[in-house]
Amino acid sequence: MRTPDIASTPDVVIVGGGIGGLSTAFALARLGLRIRVLEQAKEFGEVGAGIQLAPNCTRILEDYGLLDAAKALGVVPDRMVMRDAVDGRELTALDLRDLERRYGFPYLVIHRSDLHALFLDACRKAGVELLTEQRVVSYTQAADTATARTQDGVEHRAAVVIAADGLHSVARAMFLDDRPVSSAYVAYRGTVPVAQAGRPVDLSEVVVHVGPGCHFVHYGLRGGDLLNQVAVFESPRARAGLDDWGTPDELDTAFEGTCDTVRRGLPHMWRDKWWRMYDRDPISTWVQGRIALLGDAAHPPLQYMAQGAIMAIEDGWVLAEHAKRLRAADRTVDWSGTLAAYAAVRPEHCRRVVLTARAWGELWHLDGIQRERRNALLRARAVHDYSFIDWIYGPTALFPEDEPAMFEPIPLASADRIHAGRVASADHREHVL
Ligand SMILES: Cc1cc2nc3c(=O)[nH]c(=O)nc-3n(C[C@H](O)[C@H](O)[C@H](O)COP(=O)(O)OP(=O)(O)OC[C@H]3O[C@@H](n4cnc5c(N)ncnc54)[C@H](O)[C@@H]3O)c2cc1C
Repeated sequence: MRTPDIASTPDVVIVGGGIGGLSTAFALARLGLRIRVLEQAKEFGEVGAGIQLAPNCTRILEDYGLLDAAKALGVVPDRMVMRDAVDGRELTALDLRDLERRYGFPYLVIHRSDLHALFLDACRKAGVELLTEQRVVSYTQAADTATARTQDGVEHRAAVVIAADGLHSVARAMFLDDRPVSSAYVAYRGTVPVAQAGRPVDLSEVVVHVGPGCHFVHYGLRGGDLLNQVAVFESPRARAGLDDWGTPDELDTAFEGTCDTVRRGLPHMWRDKWWRMYDRDPISTWVQGRIALLGDAAHPPLQYMAQGAIMAIEDGWVLAEHAKRLRAADRTVDWSGTLAAYAAVRPEHCRRVVLTARAWGELWHLDGIQRERRNALLRARAVHDYSFIDWIYGPTALFPEDEPAMFEPIPLASADRIHAGRVASADHREHVL
């Protein structure tokens, strides 16, 4: 066994320097705690694509003093529009300026690397120890400490170890023997300077085109200089159980029936790398003794709600808020109480998001009569009806009793009551899931 060269013992060791790990490190370090992050990669970094940050995240960025910097790096769009990918027609929209008034914080789109760098810089300034090339392979714990052991045999002990090590979390295996669940969908990403996008693009909008077995998202980044695009489709080869799935030929075939706007975006996708989409079934136990799961390690979602990184950021904020609340006058933290409070509130919220994301994905990808029903219901939705997003964009709950109620799903078949563009008035406030 080797101990680290670093002299002091940290209060908290965080395994994984993604958005979840770094944002949590910053949240705890700003309380004056000593935090060490162990990242397996040679360098800290993120994928060079975009990410959407809803008000339940920008509220936390404001609390961290990072919102203005994030806004300067990203784009604050006016509208989020959902269109049918086949005929290109608008289905429904969110007025993001009105949404900002309702929730008090903006909807922001930003380059992942910029967001990650923002947290990295904040961590550095807050004195977080940031160590790379530290692959953690096992965990142990004693009564009031936990230890993460790297593949080099170095042991990092602290009052708490937080495993923010992503979808393939090593720590999660200590909690249960589950596996990532394949959705058989794959995502292609790409960024391109707006001037080279090959078509006029309105960067005041975040646009998602939803189609049979596929969807296509685009929005602006970096003050509108860059266009971010995501193309997602169901892989027939994945459905057939083949290993070689999600390849560029499947991308081209999947979008053959889509409208001109979508097809003109496809040449700008990166074709040498793609992301097969997995989630995991929700679990309710994230804490064992002094080891806690966080971010994708605890609740990897399919990305359809655009809440994966946000949930990770919320996890860190909730943990730190409880550590602050349960800190004694001598600044020692009641870690058992902190972890219990974290474990009491976060799993249920994230369970809801993970399961809603699955349902949302199914809704986006419908075909035939079901697609027509979905489209009718979406068109009938009033732009300023927020009843289906209040549960997610409002303030992050610190206690289970603060978790808002979810919306009532409506059956697709209720669309059959919509005739000639007219909807029975009672349907106006129903939800489309
Ligand atoms: C196409 C797509 C679009 C998305 N869009 C959005 C969006 O718009 N909004 C949103 O909120 N979310 C979005 N998400 C989800 C979001 O990207 C993830 O949920 C989020 O990045 C998870 O962050 P994390 O820090 O928990 O995990 P990760 O980003 O996976 O980070 C884990 C880190 O741990 C390190 N690590 C792993 N194992 C070890 C180990 N054993 N030892 C040490 N280090 C280790 C890894 O190298 C990595 O740096 C999207 C996802 C996809 C695929």
